[in-house]
Amino acid sequence: HLDYAEKLANLVGAKIQEETVHAVTDVDIEVHQGEVVGLVGESGCGKSTLGRLLTGILAPSDGDIFWKGRSVHSLSKAEKTDMRLAVQMIFQDPMSSLNPRKKVIDLIGEAPLVHGLTTRAGLEDYVVEIMAKVGLDPSYRDRYPHQFSGGQRQRIGIARALAVKPQLIVCDESVAALDVSIQAQILNLFMELKQDFGLTYLFVSHDLGVVQHISDRVVIMYLGRVMESAPAGEFMEQPNHPYTQALLRELPSVTQRRRAFTPIKGEIPSPLHPPSGCLFHPRCPSAFERCGAEVPALRAIHTSHASACHLNDIPAKAAS
Ligand code: SF4
Ligand code: MG
Repeated sequence: HLDYAEKLANLVGAKIQEETVHAVTDVDIEVHQGEVVGLVGESGCGKSTLGRLLTGILAPSDGDIFWKGRSVHSLSKAEKTDMRLAVQMIFQDPMSSLNPRKKVIDLIGEAPLVHGLTTRAGLEDYVVEIMAKVGLDPSYRDRYPHQFSGGQRQRIGIARALAVKPQLIVCDESVAALDVSIQAQILNLFMELKQDFGLTYLFVSHDLGVVQHISDRVVIMYLGRVMESAPAGEFMEQPNHPYTQALLRELPSVTQRRRAFTPIKGEIPSPLHPPSGCLFHPRCPSAFERCGAEVPALRAIHTSHASACHLNDIPAKAAS
């Protein structure tokens, strides 16, 4: 079940190393430090599980996680701690991850203090600087989480992550609970911080509309498998996979053209009883006989663009 996680973890590890590695089945993907990778799929596709695996919150029961090209099982205790600090996660609901009894200064300052990134004496300056970076008024440092708005609480969550000097931030539906105008502010903040701190993001979202604007590369997942992976621009221009095309039809507006909202037919199947062959075949408008019988491999359709669909085997545009 964790095969996809292993492969994507490779991909994320590769970004940290600035190296090209084998990332997904039969395809080599080049990813670079400082990139934003968007991971899109309906709920239940395994996106959040992947994020939790990468940050060490969950351990893989099967498969492996690679960090900077090395299996986490081969890391020393100190290296595992380094990885846990270097990979930070920001959740949908900051309230659930913020202790309501702690002041902001302690919420932001506790991890850097424990890990020796600051001292007791230097803590206040350390926290104040980070608060300013994320757009929080430093004079609010002695307040409690409930005294902040949803958008401000998300800024506290971001400050907590930043405080341990991460390299990779996994955002799990990090703006999904916010009003649209606040969403835009937080997304802008993510992009500013990327510049200032040389961060790399894995941006997990069900919302292709959110992801397409901020990502360099987009990976589309369905029921725990990668369906398509491409640079964001190309992906918007030339979506290959029928599932991707269906997701795009669900968006109210696609680039310049406006299309009618068309929901994907049928329900997402249970991951416990996935369909045979192509996982998308029960819902795919283009499905044909082979689709229920054979799993399509994820393959390069051209440079940096991979898709897992049998239609790509049909020669000479017969598929379109
Ligand atoms: Fe549709 Fe078949 Fe392609 Fe799957 S392999 S996306 S069912 S056409
Ligand atoms: Mg989720």
